[in-house]
Amino acid sequence: MTEIADVAISGLGPVGTILAASLGRLGVRTIAIDRSDDIYPLPRAIGLDHEIMRVIQNLGLADAVAPYVASYRPTEYQGIGGTVIARYESLPPPYPQGWQPSLVFTQPPFERAIRHALTKMPAVEVRLSTTLQQLTERSDHVELDVLSSSGELETIRARYVVGCDGGGSAVRKELGIAFESLDFDEPWLVIDVMVDEDRLHKLPETMVQYCDPARPATYVVGPGQHRRWEIMLLPGEVPDDMSREDVIWRLLGRWLGPEDGRLWRAATYLFHALVANEWRSGRVFLAGDAAHMTPPFMAQGMCQGIRDAANLAWKLALVLKGDARDALLDTYRQERRPHVRTTTETAKSLGRIICELDPAKAKERDEKMLAETGNPPVVRYRQNLIPALVEGALASEQGMPVGTRFPQPWITTLTGACRLDDFAGSSFRLVVSPDVTAQEIPDDIKQTLSRLGGSILYVETHGVSRPITARSFSIVENDDVLAAWFRAHRIVAALVRPDHYVLAVARGPLELIALSRRFKECLRIEA
Ligand SMILES: Cc1cc2nc3c(=O)[nH]c(=O)nc-3n(C[C@H](O)[C@H](O)[C@H](O)COP(=O)(O)OP(=O)(O)OC[C@H]3O[C@@H](n4cnc5c(N)ncnc54)[C@H](O)[C@@H]3O)c2cc1C
Repeated sequence: MTEIADVAISGLGPVGTILAASLGRLGVRTIAIDRSDDIYPLPRAIGLDHEIMRVIQNLGLADAVAPYVASYRPTEYQGIGGTVIARYESLPPPYPQGWQPSLVFTQPPFERAIRHALTKMPAVEVRLSTTLQQLTERSDHVELDVLSSSGELETIRARYVVGCDGGGSAVRKELGIAFESLDFDEPWLVIDVMVDEDRLHKLPETMVQYCDPARPATYVVGPGQHRRWEIMLLPGEVPDDMSREDVIWRLLGRWLGPEDGRLWRAATYLFHALVANEWRSGRVFLAGDAAHMTPPFMAQGMCQGIRDAANLAWKLALVLKGDARDALLDTYRQERRPHVRTTTETAKSLGRIICELDPAKAKERDEKMLAETGNPPVVRYRQNLIPALVEGALASEQGMPVGTRFPQPWITTLTGACRLDDFAGSSFRLVVSPDVTAQEIPDDIKQTLSRLGGSILYVETHGVSRPITARSFSIVENDDVLAAWFRAHRIVAALVRPDHYVLAVARGPLELIALSRRFKECLRIEA
């Protein structure tokens, strides 16, 4: 690509890859580089959630990743003496986003399946073994000086650049952007074992957070025979000594021995809680670990980065096509930073429960938690820990459910049941309850939707889902997911963004007129 690309992405980890695929799907001419010649071969992330699966589904890749994804087991927090002090589970079906709310996955083949999809996207050019050296911002584009593995220097030009280049981000350093530290820096040893099939019965059936002051640890049930232990290093322990194979098997001795499986890998990490102060400088953005790092106690580090990608992709596409002003891109930080910060604070507070090393304080913690949640503790749902977006390209003044994720029910069609997005797509949508007729929808809103490639979904209670026109659908759901959502929020219509966040709502047919104005204002459509 010798001309100016629309977007250049530096870093093809999970976040850069999903951003490239999301842009490619929208026809945005994207050039994506990575300094490595292949994906990172070892797993880091092991858990993901339904919001991320919906992003992958929208890219048409759900079947491609399916072999590497499995259910997430419930999580027990065990206090002193193994007492269960908290229990988290996934929400029961019908699932609000159309997928099991929490899942485990094997990262390397999962990432490979997504990266492979880029090779089929004409709008995306991938260059591996290519390292970003320097960025220079010009008036209408950015120059990226890159170095190939053969030592060749080259300049790539793009209207916008996104640094998805991980925690040590060269892009972030080039921009001189600092992290805000949320004050969590704990050293942990992470061990992955492929356990022999006939030894799996020796291990716990649930995920376990061992909140044991003598040795805090996490046990994760991965897909198939993959099991992970994350073990906190105690004061004075040296990371290099602790990752020796003999030490690892000694640490794992409580659960299993070398005769029970194959050590896949072990590495020590400092678990951090960091959020970049700025997420944009001129034409350059940060996403994923380049913008934030989260301790893994909620399995949300990568998920947060993929949310960044889903948030930024449609905004870049709209601005590049001239459908919205550049100011729309400022809503990226406005929306994502508080969301990441809140989620990271929650992960950190779970980490503080687990990492307590003082036996007296740990005893106090157990008593307090059991007093709060009962003994045995009531089940809590992990997904309720994920916040809504607070402000940005949203009609926040309307309150809930604006800023939350629009549900994805299973629907009935002439050819059988399917998830809503597979039938009606994932562009902008006006979704109306049976209380609203087609005549009540203002022309203005129909025109804006049509200009942006959006559609109208009429939820009905009988029959089967069917297309009405190329851009409008009648929707009949299998369960009560959408109907219950409309009832719970006392609304009759919702405007939904391509990343599935609710932009604005109408509480009665008369409010539909105001929706049109809100739509344009939120998207910075009018000059
Ligand atoms: C032990 C552990 C457990 C975790 N568990 C979970 C979990 O269960 N769930 C979850 O959601 N998250 C989890 N995470 C977090 C997750 O792994 C990261 O958030 C995620 O990998 C970040 O993805 P990324 O694409 O932003 O960055 P990375 O995966 O770091 O990718 C960055 C890419 O940029 C490239 N690059 C770097 N510099 C340059 C340059 N100058 N030029 C070109 N390319 C460059 C690199 O080669 C790399 O491919 C865990 C992390 C750890 C360490």
